[in-house]
Amino acid sequence: MSIKIQGGDVVGWSGVGHELIPDGVVLIEGNSISYVGTDRTRGADKTIDAAGKVVCPGFINLHVHSQLNIGDYLITDVTKADYLSANWFVFGAPAKEKMTPQPAQGMAIGRKFALFSALRNGATTILDPGSGPGDFDGYVETVGQLGARVFFSPAYRSSDIFTDPQGKHYYEPRPDLGRKGLEAAVDFIRKYDGAHQGRLQGILCPGQAETCEPSLLKETVAAAKELGVGIHIHAGGNLREFIHIVYNYRKSIVEYLADAGVLGSQTVLGHMVYAAGHSRVDYPFGDELKLIADAGASVGHCPHKYAKMALALESFDRYVERGINVGLGTDTYPLDIIAEMRYASLISRLVDRKYPGARPAAVFNAATIGGARALGRGDLGRLSAGAKADVVIVNLRTTRYGPVRDPVTALVEYGCGADVETVVVNGEIVIDHGRSTRIDEAELLAQAEATAKRAWDNWPNRDWAGRSAEDIIPPAFPVRKNSS
Ligand SMILES: [Zn+2]
Repeated sequence: MSIKIQGGDVVGWSGVGHELIPDGVVLIEGNSISYVGTDRTRGADKTIDAAGKVVCPGFINLHVHSQLNIGDYLITDVTKADYLSANWFVFGAPAKEKMTPQPAQGMAIGRKFALFSALRNGATTILDPGSGPGDFDGYVETVGQLGARVFFSPAYRSSDIFTDPQGKHYYEPRPDLGRKGLEAAVDFIRKYDGAHQGRLQGILCPGQAETCEPSLLKETVAAAKELGVGIHIHAGGNLREFIHIVYNYRKSIVEYLADAGVLGSQTVLGHMVYAAGHSRVDYPFGDELKLIADAGASVGHCPHKYAKMALALESFDRYVERGINVGLGTDTYPLDIIAEMRYASLISRLVDRKYPGARPAAVFNAATIGGARALGRGDLGRLSAGAKADVVIVNLRTTRYGPVRDPVTALVEYGCGADVETVVVNGEIVIDHGRSTRIDEAELLAQAEATAKRAWDNWPNRDWAGRSAEDIIPPAFPVRKNSS
């Protein structure tokens, strides 16, 4: 099947970077792009009129946990002082004695909803660094069904994090220090890497820097090399983690990862907010950004999530200027990679007190070629002949945007995933006029709502103090009890 997209502003590729082609043409043949330019005479099986729209390379979301926003809702927990900026611990670390496995059906719905949401918002490629345990054969089936390009394998770690009855977080080593998890991930990749015409690709996901002991990380590096896949690890995500590693190893987080051999050109560090030199870290002993840049590792930057917690990476511009490859991810809902570009831009300017910083081109690059480089894929994140046919078309002719002077600036400054009209992955139209061509969205949303309600209703049964979701984070306004 061949598809011709014509009449829009195409973000093409000059050979060294993105360039705008007004009234451009993108020709897709099979799963690849065969032509990008201005020649309208070429024929195709199907033509998409993109007048008034911007035609972008498929965006790459480097951080999507395939789960519902059940925990995300609690992340801005206002009833507990977020000591040591504990990040996800505040809602994600259960009381051990109260732990019950999430029903498999609920997990499956969460996975499907999250992957679909990220795709619907314009991410053709998704890095899923792991959610809970569950039916991974079903996961693969879901990837096949939705049509997204996904990098995944089940996450693993040496230690779990729990909350004790007094609300204190603690690390508890697993008996095998994470070996069974690593084996399961390797088995998954051996079985499924390259599934669905190459749309599903393996990546090893040791959970977080401080939950993985050094020998597990060394074995991870060896396994990744043998399998020919990359590595994602959460690192520099919270101050608790930074102090834990300094306390136990006399090293910063990045030094710890470098010594374990994890820093390399195929490694993505999720977040990497807490580096030496960050205003909340008084650690003058090393230059972590140089270590990351010299190793060729990438940072998966999720600015919106950190802004929710009154935190920021310091800064997007500084990391890029130091030579680090930075991609963008959303982590928490909304899984909207287009809005995330705006957060990356604005928060970098705020952090640096620098109005001319983090321009639209820089964050657009991060959400496209930055993500592609992080995943070792020169054929993603750009519209050029020979690249994979992953394309996103966004309608800019709406009252939201007003008159558009420059489409990429308009997209970064005003855009959101809801404006995405068409998503093509691997040469197939998976979102058409804003609707999935493959699944019943209304049914999926209803299932997600029921699953989330059950989990929120059940929250007292897993919380260390037996609190309800409303106790932890009260609604914006008081809810009227008896309507009359
Ligand atoms: Zn994460």
